[in-house]
Amino acid sequence: MKNTNLKSLMEDMIELGLEHVKGVLWNLTPAELITEAVKKDEGVLTDTGALMCRTGKFTGRSPKDRYIVKDAITKDKVWWGDINISFDEDKFDALYNKMVASLGDKILYVRDAYAGADPQHRLKVRVIDTQAWHNLFCYNMFIQPENDDLTDFHPEFTVLAVPEFYADPEVDGTRQKNFAIVNFTKKVIMVGGTGYTGETKKGIFSVLNFLLPDKDHVLSMHCSANIGKERGDSAVFFGLSGTGKTTLSADPNRLLIGDDEHGWTDEGIFNFEGGCYAKTIDLTQEKEPEIWDAIKFGAILENTKFYPGTNTVNYADCSITENTRVSYPLKNVKNAVTPSVGGIPENIFFLTCDASGVLPPISKLTVGQAMYHFISGFTAKVAGTEAGITEPVSVFSACFGAPFMPLHPTKYAELLGEKIKTHDVNIWLINTGWSGGEYGVGQRIKLKYTRAMISAALEGKLDDVNYSQHPVFGLAMPDAVAGVPAEILNPRNTWADQAAYDRKADKLASQFVANFVKFEEYANDEIMSGAPVVEDSVLA
Ligand code: ATP
Ligand code: MN
Repeated sequence: MKNTNLKSLMEDMIELGLEHVKGVLWNLTPAELITEAVKKDEGVLTDTGALMCRTGKFTGRSPKDRYIVKDAITKDKVWWGDINISFDEDKFDALYNKMVASLGDKILYVRDAYAGADPQHRLKVRVIDTQAWHNLFCYNMFIQPENDDLTDFHPEFTVLAVPEFYADPEVDGTRQKNFAIVNFTKKVIMVGGTGYTGETKKGIFSVLNFLLPDKDHVLSMHCSANIGKERGDSAVFFGLSGTGKTTLSADPNRLLIGDDEHGWTDEGIFNFEGGCYAKTIDLTQEKEPEIWDAIKFGAILENTKFYPGTNTVNYADCSITENTRVSYPLKNVKNAVTPSVGGIPENIFFLTCDASGVLPPISKLTVGQAMYHFISGFTAKVAGTEAGITEPVSVFSACFGAPFMPLHPTKYAELLGEKIKTHDVNIWLINTGWSGGEYGVGQRIKLKYTRAMISAALEGKLDDVNYSQHPVFGLAMPDAVAGVPAEILNPRNTWADQAAYDRKADKLASQFVANFVKFEEYANDEIMSGAPVVEDSVLA
């Protein structure tokens, strides 16, 4: 049992009602977990040394089955609705007891780790899994404590993940058989009926997003972050799933801080995680070398397949899901900083994947526009991370991460507003979606152009160029960016039918306005100055 305090571990397990299980394996090393996983047929090794596993029926998160227990801590603080769905305290207890009772014949893999690279703000997390590979995922994605910290580790939150346990919706108060339920009083997240590891990762993210804003004004963010190798300048990339956080933060000229979840304190930014969780669909060494090179021993591929008769992964094969993924610890990344922290960001990018082909590929935002777009959180959901999405659907997801933000969006927006004003941060809106027409007509903007636009912004090359104002959205579009054909910078020019562009732009603007109605009572004039201009005739 290495140097754990066995007595306190056992006391904690008894408190959780887990004294009857067959065995407990605590903080196994990656090699030990991989051996277990292969032995138990949970996965197979690929020819680069990665472990390849299947997540089962669920190959993405299931946001409609994510609940928060409504209790004394949460009832007046959570922004309840169909994103933060409330769950009854008694029902939680009943379901928890059932789940625990189902574990009598199980070996449990227990992992103690941190969420948060900043010692002042980190959360001590214990994850208890029935599958060895899930526990390896937690090794990859959380931050590994020093051995000394493990001897007396008292978790501040515990995740119990049992994919083999199903709820009975009629009795248990869930929508389906699968569920992920956060209980802030018990400090427990219970995941059942799904083997998608993202539920554990995003469960702890949601916990931090609830706790941190009230703690020393830490803004928690759904974003990637990196640091310039030369100047040491930090940059942050907000964006919903599939907009490019992981892809665009992997940049040979910059060191990676993290690829999905960060906090912003008075001193700077810090990663919540210890690893990356990258999409692998159509991955090539040439297009995404940083991700490619990280897929070695310790990495876990999810839902990928081999070329027949080999142990070589065929990344083009999406027959299980489009949301094939790999998790790996940051130590698999050559270009990563340790610890995963950086200074106050100089540049912030809002990534949106606009399937309507309306928004410019890069534009610079005023503070009002930044707040407006942050609260709006517009993108298209593309096939992938969420069950049931097969072609793009426009969505507004506040703070570019509403499914993980338990508090009212304005809480996060106010913190962001304060920070960008205090530190005079540049804010850019990047459309990584369609150009030359909407989805089906135009094409997705080339990754190399998006990379060139981001590099130009980071290197200050867009400080002294001319900008044109978008007629509907009021966004400042640079007239020239090195390495990018000038004609694509104004999206209207890329459409064969410019009248159709104008109609589409008006339509998108009216969607923004309609979505924002629920936030208007919280928004001041500055924020409202960031709204698109919509003719009354379009709204009617
Ligand atoms: P998640 O929150 O689910 O992890 P993410 O924001 O990290 O999502 P990525 O994993 O970076 O998103 O996914 C972006 C996908 O879009 C990648 O597969 C990438 O290759 C593809 N892509 C195509 N064109 C572009 C572009 N112009 N900019 C960014 N990504 C692009
Ligand atoms: Mn990502």
